[in-house]
Amino acid sequence: MATATTPNVIPGGSFLIANASPDDIFTLEDLTEEQQEIARTTAEFAEKSILPRVAEIEAKDFSVTRELLREAGGLGLMAVDIPEQYGGLALDKVTSALIADRIAISASFSVSISAHTGIGTLPVVWYGTPAQKEKYLPKLASGEWIAAYALSESSSGSDAMNIRAQARLSPDGKQYILNGEKMWISNAGFADLFIVFAKIDGEKFSAFLVERGTPGLTIGAEEHKLGIRGSSTCPLVLSDCAIPADNLLGEAGKGHHIAFNILNIGRYKLGAATLGGARNSLRNAIRYGKQRMAFGKPIVSFGLLQEKIADAAAGIFAGEALVYRVVGAIDAALSTLPADAPASEVQKRIEDYAVECSIVKVWCSEMLERVVDHTVQIHGGYGYVEEYPAERGYRDARINRIFEGTNEINRLIITGFLLKRAMQGRLALLPAIAKVMDEVMSGPTLREEATGPLGAEKSLLASAKKLGLFCSGAASQKYPTNLQDQQEIMGALADILIEILVMESALLRAEKFAGRSRTAIGLAQLTAARSFRVIENAAERVLGAVAEGDMLRTQMAIYRRLAKHDPINTIAIGRAIAEEVIAAERYSL
Ligand SMILES: Cc1cc2nc3c(=O)[nH]c(=O)nc-3n(C[C@H](O)[C@H](O)[C@H](O)COP(=O)(O)OP(=O)(O)OC[C@H]3O[C@@H](n4cnc5c(N)ncnc54)[C@H](O)[C@@H]3O)c2cc1C
Repeated sequence: MATATTPNVIPGGSFLIANASPDDIFTLEDLTEEQQEIARTTAEFAEKSILPRVAEIEAKDFSVTRELLREAGGLGLMAVDIPEQYGGLALDKVTSALIADRIAISASFSVSISAHTGIGTLPVVWYGTPAQKEKYLPKLASGEWIAAYALSESSSGSDAMNIRAQARLSPDGKQYILNGEKMWISNAGFADLFIVFAKIDGEKFSAFLVERGTPGLTIGAEEHKLGIRGSSTCPLVLSDCAIPADNLLGEAGKGHHIAFNILNIGRYKLGAATLGGARNSLRNAIRYGKQRMAFGKPIVSFGLLQEKIADAAAGIFAGEALVYRVVGAIDAALSTLPADAPASEVQKRIEDYAVECSIVKVWCSEMLERVVDHTVQIHGGYGYVEEYPAERGYRDARINRIFEGTNEINRLIITGFLLKRAMQGRLALLPAIAKVMDEVMSGPTLREEATGPLGAEKSLLASAKKLGLFCSGAASQKYPTNLQDQQEIMGALADILIEILVMESALLRAEKFAGRSRTAIGLAQLTAARSFRVIENAAERVLGAVAEGDMLRTQMAIYRRLAKHDPINTIAIGRAIAEEVIAAERYSL
């Protein structure tokens, strides 16, 4: 399980109150030889096998998708999370994230493979009986069979516990009879195995294994979608669909564990996939921008386009830092478990990083949106027509803010989970808030000065953490028992938490690079400047909502002291980065 450089185990959610060092975090620079090899194999498969077939995939020729999934299975790319005894490779989570990252050259194919390996397969890995694992996992690992996950319904998506699909045990106890409908099921058009959620007797939320071809299971027509058009998304109808009683997955009434624990993995894999999508998008933008002339010059020489290119590169750099830090931390936590640890223990360890997984999901999906938007803009009118991939990338990116928990739901999770842990005494957030409140009320110098090439940014990070604690304290004082009802404040606090983790991850990654890459330092500086602007904006939203009159004036005075800093020259840094990225024709460090 352990990666070569296993970082220290840092408890999930502690980033706001503790300071990590570069050695505490895993970065792409720490990949083992084996991980690098798998990344290369995946990237080669994406370039040579997937890319030439994108038009067929987008035309919904699912025989091509199935063929490519089988090929991916042959390369071992679908076996990473599956135990060896069931035909899997049982590799670490960084490896599975790397595959999601490097395969994401076609967003449609990326969704098909992720739905299969993640939400489709993991429920069987974690909750299957030995007989269920024996029966299904070898086929799912090889790509002979493809899986789908059917939770959502037309009347319940975010509100997943409110599903209406029902199951009842037959009088002889040999079968479950399922009735209901499911909506927006990825891979449904060609999947062989469905993880279907239904309530036994309308009450016990449970999961079932339903094979394609089971009488009573009907797959509806393909949805006509804005993006990821080459992925399959269909409704299901279950009409007296009888399955063997042995096809209950996990315990009756415990299906919510299956439904929600899997999502944490789905979220960091989604983040990893956005990295591949963003790199690809930036590459398209640069290639186009280098050959397109305007006013006698290639358009990439214009400062306003270079600013977009640098912003995209900084987004990818920070996204990489964030994703691999979080997944590396999960691997480190899992590495201390014995090999035969029960699945419930594995999930508990992963669940400890639920806040970080949601941060990855939200930030990376929004970073990709920025990058694809820059790419369309750099293409000008050509960005708006189907002839160039910029248009498809723009449409494809949108879904990432909707599935795997909408970004609103994930923002509520980020703040809500952290506060809950604080209340339960699992995270020393309240003493940290009290300390900052004392410090700001007693009025000493609040700024922590740091030195070195990223000294100013490290000071900003320290201020950002204090601002995060100060705003959390101010909000909890105003709403001691019902902050969760103030969604806009919860959302603004989530924005602060998100950017703190992003900023810290980018700075630590650049520090690891210290002396090796000026570019890494510049990318981290751009990230810190951008993150801090978001934090300032969110902090003002929080304080404006929780205080008024003299109290507001006092809090704003504290805020200004905490947020005070001199701007760096992001324009010069951005130009230098853009020139490097343009010369290399792609983002790479
Ligand atoms: C292409 C595609 C593929 C999908 N694949 C799958 C799949 O394989 N399996 C599967 O089970 N599902 C799948 N889904 C469904 C997806 O997970 C849901 O669409 C998603 O969870 C949102 O649910 P909803 O559509 O019902 O929207 P709603 O839950 O109705 O949300 C609508 C809006 O209200 C907001 N909202 C809802 N509740 C709250 C709240 N408490 N506070 C604040 N805002 C709130 C949401 O953020 C959103 O902006 C897929 C969807 C699509 C479009």
